[in-house]
Amino acid sequence: AKEQGKNQYRVYHSGMDIQSYRSFMLQNDLRKAIEREEFTLVFQPRVDIDQGTIKSAEALIRWEHLSWGTLSPSEFIPLAEETGQIVKIGEWVLRNALQQSSAWQKKGLPPIRVAVNFSAQQFLQKDLYETINGILIETNFNPELLEIEITESILMGNQTTITKTLNQLRKLGVHISIDDFGTGYSSLNYLRRFPVDTIKIDRSFIKDISTLPKNNMLISTIISLADSLNMSVVAEGVETIEQLNILRKYNCKVIQGYLFSPPLSPLDFESFLQKSEEK
Ligand code: C2E
Ligand code: CA
Ligand code: CA
Ligand code: CA
Repeated sequence: AKEQGKNQYRVYHSGMDIQSYRSFMLQNDLRKAIEREEFTLVFQPRVDIDQGTIKSAEALIRWEHLSWGTLSPSEFIPLAEETGQIVKIGEWVLRNALQQSSAWQKKGLPPIRVAVNFSAQQFLQKDLYETINGILIETNFNPELLEIEITESILMGNQTTITKTLNQLRKLGVHISIDDFGTGYSSLNYLRRFPVDTIKIDRSFIKDISTLPKNNMLISTIISLADSLNMSVVAEGVETIEQLNILRKYNCKVIQGYLFSPPLSPLDFESFLQKSEEK
């Protein structure tokens, strides 16, 4: 039972420590979580700093576990990746994010783009394009209003396959963004090779932002490079006014972070959107 094959149950051994016991339980529970309707989505607005408006939001999954309470994706997504459950969960996330977004539009709220996270394993599925296209058709969703967030490490895979998939998606109108940018191995040069719309500068760089310009070299380089490649930039994890002001100086246009709003339940997001429209 040590080597985990895909879609196999883990076997429990007495003598496991608490952490492995918890992971073991969670991994088994994950299989039932969709049908038990234990997953929910929260939405974090991204703010255009010049206009003060919300043009997009990132959908983030939560698991309301019967005995462990609300679980963070950082805990269960890696477990779902290990067992291959991530593929089903990922489809659930995409379908529900699009349904929620459609529901807001039907209520007359301004259409915003919704960004959905894709894990590496999910992105490497052979029928990925067909799956995404199928869900777009099923939910009658405008592909222009969908953004797919992938990490740099995904781009390290088979270049031909990845470029093909990205091109297919973009042809539909789907936007592509690179998440956690700067934390992976890819060089900035990588960006020239792939059809990408947006770069999300990882929170760790924003956290280390400094009043000394020389310490912000990487941030300013990423922003100007993105600009010259006609890509947009989102700064992640902006928590303070100081960070915002410095980012503004570097010509960063869109931010996401606790300073403006944490991820919100659909209901709270709706009122947030309404309020920001009234301003
Ligand atoms: P991520 O994609 O980098 O998402 C951003 C994370 O930063 C979110 O954590 C968000 O709540 C948090 N965050 C946002 N603003 C701030 C801030 O100002 N300060 C701080 N300290 N944190 C901030 P969350 O929701 O716990 O998600 C963690 C990670 O789990 C995500 O990182 C993503 O890699 C993964 N994840 C979440 N939802 C999904 C999903 O539906 N599918 C997949 N494959 N992965 C997901
Ligand atoms: Ca993300
Ligand atoms: Ca991120
Ligand atoms: Ca991340």
